[in-house]
Amino acid sequence: MKAGTKDKFTAVLKTGKKIMCFVAAILSAAGLGHLPGRVPGAPLITAEAASAPYMKITCIDLGDSSSVYGESVLLESAGQFLLMDTGSKDSNNTVLRYLKKRGIRNLSLYISHFHEDHCDYAESILKDSYFHVRHLYVANPDPVRPYITSWYKSHRHKIYDSCKKYLAFYNSITSAAYKKKIPVTALRKGKRFTIGSVRADVLWDHNNRGFGKFDPYDVTGIGFQNNNSAVTKFTLGSRSFLNCGDIEFSTERDLLAAGVNLSADILKLSHHGMWTSNLDAFVKAVNPCYCFYTYKNKSDPERRRFASAADTASTLKRLAKRYNILGNRYNGTITYKVQYNTIYVSAQRHIKSKTIKVKNRSDGKIRTHRIVYNDAQPLFLDNRMLPGGTKLAAGSAENRTPGYSGWKKDSNGWRYRTAKGTWLAGGWKTIGDDYYYFTKSGYRYEGWLKLNGKKYFMSRLGVRQTGWQMIDGKFYYFSTYPGKVGEMLTGMRRIGDSWWPLRGDGTLDLSKKKAPNINITTSEHRHTTK
Ligand SMILES: [Zn+2]
Repeated sequence: MKAGTKDKFTAVLKTGKKIMCFVAAILSAAGLGHLPGRVPGAPLITAEAASAPYMKITCIDLGDSSSVYGESVLLESAGQFLLMDTGSKDSNNTVLRYLKKRGIRNLSLYISHFHEDHCDYAESILKDSYFHVRHLYVANPDPVRPYITSWYKSHRHKIYDSCKKYLAFYNSITSAAYKKKIPVTALRKGKRFTIGSVRADVLWDHNNRGFGKFDPYDVTGIGFQNNNSAVTKFTLGSRSFLNCGDIEFSTERDLLAAGVNLSADILKLSHHGMWTSNLDAFVKAVNPCYCFYTYKNKSDPERRRFASAADTASTLKRLAKRYNILGNRYNGTITYKVQYNTIYVSAQRHIKSKTIKVKNRSDGKIRTHRIVYNDAQPLFLDNRMLPGGTKLAAGSAENRTPGYSGWKKDSNGWRYRTAKGTWLAGGWKTIGDDYYYFTKSGYRYEGWLKLNGKKYFMSRLGVRQTGWQMIDGKFYYFSTYPGKVGEMLTGMRRIGDSWWPLRGDGTLDLSKKKAPNINITTSEHRHTTK
């Protein structure tokens, strides 16, 4: 294969064109994606491959407005997508806008259970002609059926109503899928399916108890339905992610009693991190490196019903002492990317601690709770890449098992150690699908880089930039052309559909042309917002 092919590969992926991704997938399947990255004129050095299997989990921030709330987690692998839950009905189309921004049209849907904060937007996606939904995976609705009877209607009308609503969601969502001939699969225990290189195993799909023997607070049956959430483990290599939907204590206890292998590196805390769930023993059995929880609107009726903000705050506080926890509320959209058994973490924003005032549900007194997140968290935001599976002591970058691969910082800067134990050094290297430039002694470049008369810009995270970039308030354009990827352009250039005047120093002459739309798919952005 000719030099520069890899550049093409990367550039093509960044354009997000379906057909080219298909070509890339073939290259990758043929093992050709493992060719080293190379810029003409730069020494050819073997490095990590762009096409290595990965699993990316994005916990989309649905915001805290009263119009949208709930949960939506996107899993991505080898260009395939699984949207796990869709959040509530949403006048802002938050999830839809997110998917469109990412250029995602082909996806599968997964509904953990049929509560509005998880599924009410599913119909909109299924009916939207923009999307091609490949497959619909749905929670098992059977446990609620026995409660749709006239006896329940007259004697336990709250339970009857909530079960009816639950089934109505199930019916409207599955019939929207059937109308479009989208295959529907029930998420029953033992079911296995794949998304790209990721294997999904359904570990559990129902609670073992009826209403009568159920949690005493559960007068409306909402907890009963939460406990019907599908529990699915997603595995890539030796790393895994566990999504238990909104299961509560009862199901957590059932899972523990049944001896289900719960261990996972990333755990979505159940039921939005609420006090109804996330037993110490359960989280301990999962033994995650990272946990996250999704936003639950403060005006949510369930939250009001239990007046449980205080309990939830203390649940999170308790867990944060031992686990690295991020949440939409404080961190916006959160991304975990698993590749080479390493877990890369990034969050849109970071708040180290938060003080909230809440009314105690038993004595009615207002108390102040301060949620302090694990001290190790700032590390995520400095290097965004930590070796998964190794528990970091608070604030320590050194407490890693020998033989890890990943970024490491010392007083001279950042270095990268491969899984083989060698350090990347002396030229261009790819890690994931990003390009980095390392000195002979193995430190990565940041900022402007001049090589053989060409100029490149390496982001704050060391990533070679392409497309439009704003640097120190000025616009520059870096080539995405195969064989020239990352080179700063000068002169009059045709970029996209129009001509752009670029001065000799690369800056865009704004006296001649209005500012371009910044390319939001650049590497730097990928690290900071997805
Ligand atoms: Zn929920």
